[in-house]
Amino acid sequence: MTTTDFLVIGSGVAGLSFALRAAEYGKVTLLCKSDPLVSSSAKAQGGIAAVMDKNDTFEEHVADTLDAGAGLCDEAAVRTIVEEAPAAIEELLS
Ligand SMILES: Cc1cc2nc3c(=O)[nH]c(=O)nc-3n(C[C@H](O)[C@H](O)[C@H](O)COP(=O)(O)OP(=O)(O)OC[C@H]3O[C@@H](n4cnc5c(N)ncnc54)[C@H](O)[C@@H]3O)c2cc1C
Repeated sequence: MTTTDFLVIGSGVAGLSFALRAAEYGKVTLLCKSDPLVSSSAKAQGGIAAVMDKNDTFEEHVADTLDAGAGLCDEAAVRTIVEEAPAAIEELLS
């Protein structure tokens, strides 16, 4: 038997990002189904697309994503993710 303030299931970038924030407020326990380094996040080596340069634009990233999504993307969700990506990258880097 164990007790914890936050139980995070999954050691990919989503789980680890949440765990980092939650650790400011209490004890975090991280649960994953095998080795913590086995995740899609660990396999992703191609980089993360985000607007990090003043010559790049949100509009181009939104257009690229909608094009690659072949009609399956929720445009509002794409726009939110593209616009919030630079801050998320800075947070990951820090
Ligand atoms: C080969 C590959 C290459 C990729 N390359 C890129 C790239 O270059 N750029 C890019 O942006 N994206 C890339 N992606 C996509 C990217 O990896 C994912 O979108 C992202 O890592 C998802 O993060 P996540 O935290 O949601 O999930 P994951 O990183 O998959 O983490 C899921 C976690 O949940 C755990 N879990 C699953 N089921 C259970 C269960 N039943 N019980 C307990 N734990 C469980 C797993 O063990 C794992 O720790 C790639 C994906 C793959 C597979």
